[in-house]
Amino acid sequence: MPRPLCATIHLDSMQHNLARARACAPDAKVWAVVKANAYGHGLERGMRGFAAADGLALIELENAVRLRQLGWTKPILLLEGFFDATDIALLAEHDINSAVHSIEQIKMLEYTQLYRPIDVHLKMNTGMNRLGFTPADYPAAYARLRAIPGIRNITLMTHFANADELEHPRLTIIEQVRRFREGADGLPGQRSLSNSGGVLHQAELSRELHNDWIRPGIMLYGGSPGGKSAEDIGLLPTMTLTSEVIGIQHLVPGDTVGYGSRFVAEVPMTVGVVACGYADGYPRHAPHGTPIVVDGVRTRLIGRVSMDMMTVDLTGVPNARVGSKVTLWGDGLPIDEVAASAGTIGYELMCALAQRVRVNEG
Ligand code: PLP
Repeated sequence: MPRPLCATIHLDSMQHNLARARACAPDAKVWAVVKANAYGHGLERGMRGFAAADGLALIELENAVRLRQLGWTKPILLLEGFFDATDIALLAEHDINSAVHSIEQIKMLEYTQLYRPIDVHLKMNTGMNRLGFTPADYPAAYARLRAIPGIRNITLMTHFANADELEHPRLTIIEQVRRFREGADGLPGQRSLSNSGGVLHQAELSRELHNDWIRPGIMLYGGSPGGKSAEDIGLLPTMTLTSEVIGIQHLVPGDTVGYGSRFVAEVPMTVGVVACGYADGYPRHAPHGTPIVVDGVRTRLIGRVSMDMMTVDLTGVPNARVGSKVTLWGDGLPIDEVAASAGTIGYELMCALAQRVRVNEG
């Protein structure tokens, strides 16, 4: 019998969240972001859950090729671009649109004989300071790219650092849009700016933010990019991680629990041992008090999360027994809440789901 730990992926919720993103930006086409194994949901499930998207965007070239092999015929975008001439041949062969963010990449394209035309996204660095050309260098990079015979469409692209926080004290989305316009105004081509945080802005900014293509990721997986809760945004969880109580201990005051004996019982209490640990992707640093649902009752993590198990307080769960159902996150327990308690973000929890965890669809 397999361990009771299981991640259930809700394909209907993925469809719902995609529709929600479209409703926020009705005039834009949607790149559904499926990098990192579709944020831990499985690449092929990402493809099925977001079948109604206009394109799929990801990082890994081998997975872009796999999407073609799986039958995805609509556009595919590589968000980080390519690394060498062999990659460029694959882009042409599989009709994959790629980000271009450096002069080295432009040189590679100039020296490569493209036997089929390719589309590219020219990336501008508007303040994130990861990848891309500065607004000042952008028009020249565009002109050089335009002069390469095998380059078909050039989409103008940037990425936001603080899309969820309109008033960010260091770098606002408004300032990033201003810089984008400074580098891109007057250049022909479609525009792509917004991740989930940008998609969710509905004020007068939305016209500038949504443009021709949006690139939502986390909101499609039912996570909030920050600010409002996923529920308030109208999103549904797409991954529910469940397990079972596999052991019960009755503690007297002074008893401790787990490695490091970090938790000390102050009163008599009942503790449940749950089959899920950090080797499954649950954060080891999650502190006492991190929410967990047992038999539909919200309770709390206690003690240190170990590799395969964790311990929960069952004192307030009167009917708990070995076999009781445990929800670690998802339906009934927002992943963002668990992440916040562990000092991380829902993105990281989803992406860290370990390979050994059984996955169901439902
Ligand atoms: N666009 C780019 C270039 C990204 O790197 C990402 C993810 O980090 C996204 C879009 C999607 O972002 P989010 O998951 O916040 O919507």
